[in-house]
Amino acid sequence: MGVLLQIRDLKVHYDGPEGPVRAVDGVSLDVQRGETYALVGESGCGKTATALSVSRLVEPGRIVGGSIRFDGDNLLALTEKQMCGIRGARIGMVFQEAAAALNPVMRIGSQVSESLRLHQGLSRQEGMKRAVELLSMVALPDPERQARAYPHELSGGMKQRVMLAIALSCKPDLVIADEPTTALDVTVQAQILELLRRLKQELSLTVLLITHDLGVVAENADRVGVMYAGKLVEEAPVHDLFDAPAHPYTRGLMRALPGREPAAHRRLPTLAGSVPDPTAPPPGCRFHPRCPEAFEPCATREPAEIETAENRRSACFLHDPRHVSVGEGSA
Ligand code: SF4
Repeated sequence: MGVLLQIRDLKVHYDGPEGPVRAVDGVSLDVQRGETYALVGESGCGKTATALSVSRLVEPGRIVGGSIRFDGDNLLALTEKQMCGIRGARIGMVFQEAAAALNPVMRIGSQVSESLRLHQGLSRQEGMKRAVELLSMVALPDPERQARAYPHELSGGMKQRVMLAIALSCKPDLVIADEPTTALDVTVQAQILELLRRLKQELSLTVLLITHDLGVVAENADRVGVMYAGKLVEEAPVHDLFDAPAHPYTRGLMRALPGREPAAHRRLPTLAGSVPDPTAPPPGCRFHPRCPEAFEPCATREPAEIETAENRRSACFLHDPRHVSVGEGSA
């Protein structure tokens, strides 16, 4: 094991008409080698901006603070050229919209072999041979024929397999999968996730999985970080999170789930109230306007992250021994 990816106090801003949008505001997390770490949260909570920061692809946003260490290297101190050597080679990426990520006028085989030629210096012939092997590895039917096809000739699920083949082409240490199955129907979604789990085992991958689907979290993650309004509010091993969510936001999400049976396809349920405006988040705990357990300090002071158990932390005054005696309850 050991830490492969270490993020500390990450801050990402986007320029908005009414001032900077603080998409990520002080997020810290570690991803251990060989694990799947899921970042989960409602739309706009900052999970995608956090993940894209690892590849330094947040434009038009900016990383304005914090550090990101990948296998010991400070990614924020690297030149763009050095970063290009890491993207696609040591960090593979799979996005929600495979159709948008693939070049419509380039054959599939050429797209899969492109990073092999760029990062590993393979000839065109060697690259194509390896591309067919990779398409076979991701279980694309008739890989030799599909290597000659264009993206529009493939179904959504097949395109996502191609994206996976591209992401894995250079044997990356880390795969960032940003809502990799959201655009797919339920059956294909299950097939792609099964494929990702199998390849993770076979290739000893480390995966940073971004999702708003608690079913995907339950079936794929080892550990989970829950984000709310640019903050990481809870982190826990996946079974602990589902068995005993600690933060009121996570508890609200779990309570709102339709059932507690093993996850099928459980999108994040909607809680009462709305996510705060990221240009003007509320003072104190950002969840306090929606929190049924808010008490005296919540509207004025920001809760610190507290270690609530081994490998668990929560940013809530209910878990802070200095405040819990005046709260109305504890997790
Ligand atoms: Fe609720 Fe207060 Fe905890 Fe925030 S700090 S989640 S408002 S109890």
